[in-house]
Amino acid sequence: MTAPPLLEARSVHRTYRRAGQKVSALCGVTVAVPPGSVTGLLGRSGSGKSTLARCLALLERPDAGEIRFRGSPTSTWRGPELARGRRKVQLVMQEAVRAINPRFTVGEAVAEPLEILDVPKAERLDRAAALLTELQLDRDLMPRPARRLSGGQVQRLALARALACDPKVLILDEALAGLDLAVRAELVDRLEALRSTRGLALVVLSHDRPLVERWASAMYEMSAGALVAGH
Ligand code: ADP
Ligand code: MG
Repeated sequence: MTAPPLLEARSVHRTYRRAGQKVSALCGVTVAVPPGSVTGLLGRSGSGKSTLARCLALLERPDAGEIRFRGSPTSTWRGPELARGRRKVQLVMQEAVRAINPRFTVGEAVAEPLEILDVPKAERLDRAAALLTELQLDRDLMPRPARRLSGGQVQRLALARALACDPKVLILDEALAGLDLAVRAELVDRLEALRSTRGLALVVLSHDRPLVERWASAMYEMSAGALVAGH
């Protein structure tokens, strides 16, 4: 028997209610993420990519269909089991600074997930510095306010925070959009290095077709909440 995909969405449906109207953000989407792979998900704005990302990251539950992790259905996961699952699938968005407490220094921002994971205080500083180094951020930045970083540095910080949880899947929801081309190319190289050193699977959601086509080994394309045939 072949191993199941690391992460899968099976016939996932998700409907939102807005101003009394139903919006079908996902209508029966099936995707599979193999371990250590780069899976691309293309689609225009409003096609349902971010909704699928939140479902895959176990932050939202599908109305119908299922998210499976290592072959196990996740719909019954609650409490500590759900928290463990969420750590294994990390989501980094565009403008990741919004997910960081604006009062935090860089050091506090990267130490926060370590604190939640009960890493002893004596180890936190070293672990935080090591995570920053993995993202090529200078540890001298640690006392600086996180909101004063450049756009590229903030995305690196967000990636360092995500890696603190030791994930198996990193979902990048337009996480490189809006960055200078040179900064973006550097980050793609770094993420490729992390993929091999950490055995990470990447899910790259973007409206940027050339980026996804160059990077991903398997690609899906979405339109109006459904997959476009032929990918
Ligand atoms: P994409 O990331 O591809 O731009 P989204 O998943 O953000 O697409 O959105 C898909 C559809 O679902 C859009 O019509 C959007 O307006 C709607 N939508 C997304 N999130 C919500 C929400 N929390 N409440 C209401 N509608 C939403
Ligand atoms: Mg989106």
